[in-house]
Amino acid sequence: MNEYNYIKKQDAEIYEAIMGEEAREASGLELIPSENYVSRAVREANGSVLTNKYSEGYPGRRYYGGQDYTDAVEQLAIDRACELFGCTYANVQPLSGAPANVAMYFALMEPGDTVLGMDLSHGGHLTHGHPTTSINKVFNFVRYKMKDVDTGEIDYDELREVALEHKPKIILAGFSAYSRELDYQKFVDIAREVGAYAVADMAHIAGLIAGGVVQNPFDYGFDVITSTTHKTMRGPRGGMILIREDKEIAQKINKAVFPGLQGGPHMNLIAGKAVAFGEALRPEFKEYCQQVLKNAKAMEKVFLEKEVRLLGGGTDNHLLLADVYGSLGVTGQEAETVLDEIGITLNKNMIADESRTAMDPSGIRFGTPAMTTRGMKETEATRLAEIMIEVLKDKDNQQLKDALKAEVEALCTSFPVPESFV
Ligand SMILES: *Cc1c(COP(=O)(O)O)cnc(C)c1O
Repeated sequence: MNEYNYIKKQDAEIYEAIMGEEAREASGLELIPSENYVSRAVREANGSVLTNKYSEGYPGRRYYGGQDYTDAVEQLAIDRACELFGCTYANVQPLSGAPANVAMYFALMEPGDTVLGMDLSHGGHLTHGHPTTSINKVFNFVRYKMKDVDTGEIDYDELREVALEHKPKIILAGFSAYSRELDYQKFVDIAREVGAYAVADMAHIAGLIAGGVVQNPFDYGFDVITSTTHKTMRGPRGGMILIREDKEIAQKINKAVFPGLQGGPHMNLIAGKAVAFGEALRPEFKEYCQQVLKNAKAMEKVFLEKEVRLLGGGTDNHLLLADVYGSLGVTGQEAETVLDEIGITLNKNMIADESRTAMDPSGIRFGTPAMTTRGMKETEATRLAEIMIEVLKDKDNQQLKDALKAEVEALCTSFPVPESFV
């Protein structure tokens, strides 16, 4: 059955592009750690008539009529999010991870106030105050770093000193290129000491928290968690903000999202979030998350055995950062290109204390959420890591590349992208 009959009939160009993307996703091996495959049920919700409806406001308090079903959808998304993360309040309206962070900043601070966040070159995200972002013009960002790049341990003494000196309103834990667990208790203790909110941006690992395979910052008293709902959460592209228990904070967050930052919520995507949260509440999702970690550990083992340096010395989550330039003499850009040639997609990445440039850095970043959704296990993860290192060590060998490309393609054929996880 073709689910795109109408597009096919009326818009051949877009139809071709969608078919192309579908084939690309089916035949290539996706190792970008922020990507995943959603279920057909999530895509049905995304494509539903809910996209037609304006629902400014919140369930029971809307500006327009006709909200019986949108109220039901949003309330289900909120209730399921609270159940998954063990919190009291949730705002599921943020359009993506970046606007969720913007809303959170405006909810908890006044312009000119200070955020203490992870140094961007040590794994922090663009939305944590990168100089090129608009938010960097409004708030003041100060930084903490890792103490030891080869263990990944954060310098908590420095974190406390910077906090005491700069009196931030928010201490932000979270990252998009960091592979170790954080000592959440230390973050909370320091935040309490200086009177800051403890906020975690869990965009990358939200699914793993929901699945119970990594620690939940709320268990240590974090006030707020921001996140995406795609990535490991395996839902539609979108954002959310979770509030542990404080009603006043929840009210500030709600106001900052709407009317502070956004107009009408995208109710079709909120329905997709609700469906994905429903999937994440099932035991199968816990198994999925466990396998994501096992697969990352299997890849870690190969890289360490073959003496390719991993930032942080390894991984506690779904992602790995390898210093391919330092260990193999191949730049991040070269590695990205060569791996792409054999059907493996990942991204070049700056490593901590980078000596090269952002456009051609020393590292690559990769992860296991998408391959695990396809059903791959440790055997496949191990072989993929071997393939990666083999081709990087001999990147001009066309015969080798042809053979490995065929092997990657065969692997993908044996593990088709599933339609459903239940
Ligand atoms: C991905 C990510 C974001 C941004 O999410 P978008 O949906 O791309 O806007 C924010 N913070 C962190 C830590 C992320 O990894």
